[in-house]
Amino acid sequence: MRKMILMLVVSTLFLAAVAAKESGPAAVAVSRGKNGEESFFIFGTGATGKLSDLPSELRKSGCREADLSAWSSEIDYGKLLAALERKGIRVTRCYVPDPGRASWFRKNLAGPEPEARGKRSLSFVRALIEENEYNRRYKLPGKFETVKYVTIHNTAEPFSARQERDRVDSRRDNMSVSFHFAVDEREAVQILPLDIHGWHAGDGAQGPGNTQSIGVEICRSQCRGAADWQYRRSEENAEILACALLRHFGLTAEQLRMHRDWSGKYCPHRILEENRFESFRARVAERLSEKPDREEREILRGLSGR
Ligand SMILES: [Zn+2]
Repeated sequence: MRKMILMLVVSTLFLAAVAAKESGPAAVAVSRGKNGEESFFIFGTGATGKLSDLPSELRKSGCREADLSAWSSEIDYGKLLAALERKGIRVTRCYVPDPGRASWFRKNLAGPEPEARGKRSLSFVRALIEENEYNRRYKLPGKFETVKYVTIHNTAEPFSARQERDRVDSRRDNMSVSFHFAVDEREAVQILPLDIHGWHAGDGAQGPGNTQSIGVEICRSQCRGAADWQYRRSEENAEILACALLRHFGLTAEQLRMHRDWSGKYCPHRILEENRFESFRARVAERLSEKPDREEREILRGLSGR
């Protein structure tokens, strides 16, 4: 009897440990180099290696679910998905570009919008990247002298805001890439302190895009087809976040910018493709002319650290 109780306690502890580790699907970037070598990169852990080792690597880190994204159609995704399934790893989404066509969410495993979606939800999450030596060097360049703009981006990925945050935190490729917020259909995730400027505008160390603007990445911009709703709701939430940021810094909707305004990069690609930046600006301006609603008040509380 005592043995049984002990076993029960041990197995409960084990289950609790596994549950604690599982914080949603891991985001995985899959690529194929010029020499044909296929590799992976896991955003949260920064683990990288040969693609054939991906299933065991995910198991090792306690992940049972993965979101995949790739920019190469040459990889055998059928084989990869089967290998992951054999290891008991569920692929919740798999973004693969179609050869010869615009990038497309070919294997949309995320599914359609839940029917009973209820009210739109938006929570403020402060999850700043770690202040280690590497991040200070490549992602936390220095204090803002002034904040004059809010710059809008699209991630060009299917990933969530928390996954994008993990990607910034864990990348070690000596690229200077950072932004202040990632926003998806549920959350506005703050990644950088509001008094530190980021590297998101592509206009260099003196450019006003990098040194005078808050960077907002609207996530899920490669969610299309049946998963399109996730992008639409992410953009709706970005309106609330952008409005709260303008209000917080005492700016107007005229001070909203696109990444393209600073460096010519085709970003935010979804908004540009669908020619919607001026209507986005108009919706933010209308919101700004009114008193903040419940959702915006939560964001404003988050911004002021309360
Ligand atoms: Zn951008």
